[in-house]
Amino acid sequence: MPRVYLGLGSNLFDPVAQIQRAIQALQQLPASQFLQRSRLYRNPPLGPVIQPDYVNAVVALATELEVLVLLDALQAIETRQGRQRQTERWGPRCIDLDILLFGENIIHHPRLSVPHPGLSLRNFVLYPLYDIAPELVVPGMGPLKELLQRCTAQALEPLDE
Ligand code: ATP
Ligand code: MG
Ligand code: MG
Repeated sequence: MPRVYLGLGSNLFDPVAQIQRAIQALQQLPASQFLQRSRLYRNPPLGPVIQPDYVNAVVALATELEVLVLLDALQAIETRQGRQRQTERWGPRCIDLDILLFGENIIHHPRLSVPHPGLSLRNFVLYPLYDIAPELVVPGMGPLKELLQRCTAQALEPLDE
C-alpha cells in the first residue's frame, strides 16, 4: 500500500478541535490504515487576507484507495465539518485537507497536483512532516532535510496538547 501524507489546516471555529475531529475522521477512512500524526503547530496566516492564526498538522496513512477517491473522501470530510468551498483561496477555513504525497507518485491532473506544489515552500508543512518522516525524500523535490534547511521555522510554534 502506498504511504500517503496529508496536510491539515484550520483557522476558524476552534482550530485545534477541527484538526482533532478531522484526524478522527481520517482514522475511519475505508481501505486505509492510519499510521501517524505530527504535533499540532500554530502558524500565522499566509497571503493578503487578514484572518486568525492557523493550526496545522501532517498525518501519514497507508491506503488502497485510488488517489481521486481519496481526494473525494477528504473533500467530503471538509464539507461535513462545514467548509464552504466558494470562499476565496487563501481565505479563512474551518478545515483544509491536502494530499501532500501519494507514495512515489507524481500526479498532474485537473483536480490534483502531487506532490503538493506548496510543499517545498511551506514551513507549516515541512516541519510537521519532519516530525513523522525525517528521512523522507520528496519525489521530484529531494530530501526533506534539505527542503527544511531552506525554509525558516519563523513564527511556527508547536502546541502543548
Ligand atoms: P493550496 O492547494 O494552495 O493549499 P487550498 O488548499 O486552499 O490551496 P482548496 O480550496 O482546498 O485549496 O482546493 C482547491 C482545489 O485544489 C481542490 O478542489 C482540488 O481539486 C485541488 N487540488 C490540487 N492538488 C491538490 C492536492 N494535492 N490536495 C488537495 N487538493 C488539491
Ligand atoms: Mg491547502
Ligand atoms: Mg486544500
